[in-house]
Amino acid sequence: MNKLISILIPLYNEEETLPITYDRLTRVLTDIHYDFEILFINDGSNDKSIKILKEIREKDPRVSYLDLSRNYGKEIAMAAGFDYAVGDAVIIMDADLQDPPELIPQMIQYWEEGFDDVYAKRKNRNGETWLKKKTSYYFYRILKKVSKVEIQEDTGDFRLLSRRAVEAIKGFKEHHRYTKGFFSWIGFNKKEILFEREARIAGKSKWNYFKLIELAIEGITSFSSAPLRMTTYVGFTTATIGIIYMAYVVIKKIVFGDPVAGYASMVSLLLFFSSIQLISLGIIGEYLGRIFDETKNRPLYFINDYDGQRNSR
Ligand code: UDP
Ligand code: MG
Repeated sequence: MNKLISILIPLYNEEETLPITYDRLTRVLTDIHYDFEILFINDGSNDKSIKILKEIREKDPRVSYLDLSRNYGKEIAMAAGFDYAVGDAVIIMDADLQDPPELIPQMIQYWEEGFDDVYAKRKNRNGETWLKKKTSYYFYRILKKVSKVEIQEDTGDFRLLSRRAVEAIKGFKEHHRYTKGFFSWIGFNKKEILFEREARIAGKSKWNYFKLIELAIEGITSFSSAPLRMTTYVGFTTATIGIIYMAYVVIKKIVFGDPVAGYASMVSLLLFFSSIQLISLGIIGEYLGRIFDETKNRPLYFINDYDGQRNSR
């Protein structure tokens, strides 16, 4: 039996891009002599995506689909995909063709050479704003500094994973997911491929700055407790400054008999220290909230429907 390769494509409201993506992907696959499973994960789309998927599935038995019960976000959609994929290797790809399927043969070749995680690193970021490029650049720098895992820069989720790497990722049951960090965390043999990232072919990006900030917080909090330690350091620093200032005020009082202490300095001290306390509480709260979410131990996702190769193998 030929080796089977699963291609995971999480999608949310991609009715415009789906047919184009399917066409271009299958054109690439005809030249490769492996069996394929193209597993679409419909992440609660509220457009015609699921209808289109069912139509494609009718015509092409290589196509499977997993229909999640609502929109969970790409991270959880990928987790669901890993659970259902049956291939000896799994390739994750976006539905908007920003990840060119033409890289797949190269990925498979490296996999055959023994690599477990063949990831595509972008040489450029076409179609993205200057602000997004800058913020993501600094985000990676910070994340690298505070977390102990080496996160690959300018690398998305587009990659091929060997079966054992997929099994490793499936062990991550957490609800707050920063999957890109998991890929680094599991280790194994990694190989980089460079590519030019294209702009989205149609439709709109589902990202906005709010989501980006959330993902950044997710990335940092799920891989590092450095912010907690930082609050301790800030606490010690302000305490030291506080003691020095206190000594200054007391000595001034004794030596000069200073009548009423300055209102301005009182107010600024009060504001300064209370805001530091609030920020620290917020940081502790971030971690506490995550502990709360994880201890509930709820299922990660529910599915409406699945039609695919897991049923027939
Ligand atoms: N996506 C998803 N669930 C979501 C949001 C996005 O499955 O809640 C999918 C989306 O359909 C696409 C991929 O994740 O296939 C990447 O999303 P997008 O192109 O919007 O992000 P960007 O490339 O702009 O970072
Ligand atoms: Mg995209």
